[in-house]
Amino acid sequence: MQDASSENTSCRCCIAGGGPAGMMLGFLLARAGVATIVLEKHADFLRDFRGDTIHPSTLEAMHELGLLDDFLKLPHQEIRQGEAKIGDVTIPLVDFSHLPVQAKFVALMPQWDFLDFLAERAKRYPCFRLLMSAEVDGLIEEEGRVAGVAAKTKDGQLTIRADLTVGADGRHSLVRREAGFAPLDIGAPMDVLWFKLSRQTSDGDEFLGRIDAGQLLVVFNRGEYWQCAYVIAKGSAERLKAKGIGSLREKIAALAPFLADRVDALAGFDDVKLLTVAVDRLPLWHKPGLLCIGDAAHAMSPVGGVGINLAIQDAIAAANTLAGPLRGDGPLSDRLLAQVQKRREWPTKVIQGIQVLIQKNVISRVLGGTGKAVPPPFARLFIAFPALRRLPARLMGLGVRRERVTSPARAIPQAANLRD
Ligand SMILES: Cc1cc2nc3c(=O)[nH]c(=O)nc-3n(C[C@H](O)[C@H](O)[C@H](O)COP(=O)(O)OP(=O)(O)OC[C@H]3O[C@@H](n4cnc5c(N)ncnc54)[C@H](O)[C@@H]3O)c2cc1C
Repeated sequence: MQDASSENTSCRCCIAGGGPAGMMLGFLLARAGVATIVLEKHADFLRDFRGDTIHPSTLEAMHELGLLDDFLKLPHQEIRQGEAKIGDVTIPLVDFSHLPVQAKFVALMPQWDFLDFLAERAKRYPCFRLLMSAEVDGLIEEEGRVAGVAAKTKDGQLTIRADLTVGADGRHSLVRREAGFAPLDIGAPMDVLWFKLSRQTSDGDEFLGRIDAGQLLVVFNRGEYWQCAYVIAKGSAERLKAKGIGSLREKIAALAPFLADRVDALAGFDDVKLLTVAVDRLPLWHKPGLLCIGDAAHAMSPVGGVGINLAIQDAIAAANTLAGPLRGDGPLSDRLLAQVQKRREWPTKVIQGIQVLIQKNVISRVLGGTGKAVPPPFARLFIAFPALRRLPARLMGLGVRRERVTSPARAIPQAANLRD
């Protein structure tokens, strides 16, 4: 990683946040030949349980960029189908195998591998800089425009002036707060506890949801372990903790008996990570000189695990619209920033709308129930009509209004090519 300079510097586009949205936009702008700096407050991308689902829409974008083959050489697991066990009935719910894309599966990969991959590819372009341990702590505003950022780095304070500043700093975005943007809180009835339990080959390998007796557990096959998401009622984590880890172990063992022989691996609540679920959306994503994308513009519900993919789609749409003007092919007008919001707001609203529907009609009901769960009649249709499983696969896998990469590409300089 490059070291931050304590001197003031400038670039065409300064991106706050090196998550999926920021790194993908940084890569796409660098590929177009735009002088770009990404600032990431952490020293590395190593964060566990940050969302490891790379959906077909993102894999297709990697294919369009010519990166898919190399990307899939990284260790990953593939979800091609998914089922839910509701009470005693197993319902096959999703089938990605008919999607009209190259990779007809969800790839499970640690988010840091994904981000490291993008960072490595972006650094092949000399116009790209990634500053780690660089935390944006303010916006520079001049004559009614955002003109860059101030950041704390390990070497001191840094000022970066930029024609465009992008807030890709996640759902607790400082950039959106400093810009005076207030999100519309849509709300969610649940929080999620994430933890790992070891996996044995006899367990089977498919992605599985389990619903029973007022509880919901989703397990993802991660090779040597199961990544488990246990859904709890909003704000109930402290009550659960007060009952002790034994109570959680018992609930998991009852819900998924095949895990009963290894729940003791959860020694305490330090082995469990709480995701406080937030669903929100900014009414306005931009102002002169500034654009917010990804979770900074819209925190998604974990339903469908689509947060990363929407963040990536925002980055592609932003690069498609802005890369040309940013590299001097035309004026960078505020109207273009509005165009990015217009293009991405509709898919965000549609997916959040579906998530809220599922939160209200499925998750709230499950969490409010007590006895043996019985699948609703429509769920049984998925058993009788396999083609129905393509619909949730399409919504989850490709979303709505999928972005194709149309931003320009410059050749990688020869010296960087030799590093392949
Ligand atoms: C526990 C958990 C589990 C999740 N599981 C899934 C899942 O399975 N599938 C899925 O699709 N989504 C999942 N999500 C959501 C997903 O992680 C986000 O939707 C996605 O990462 C959004 O990408 P982003 O780039 O917009 O924001 P983030 O990924 O939040 O990235 C923002 C980046 O900005 C950095 N940053 C923040 N403030 C500053 C600052 N002031 N200066 C510089 N850098 C800053 C952060 O360190 C971070 O790296 C999960 C989220 C959590 C918390």
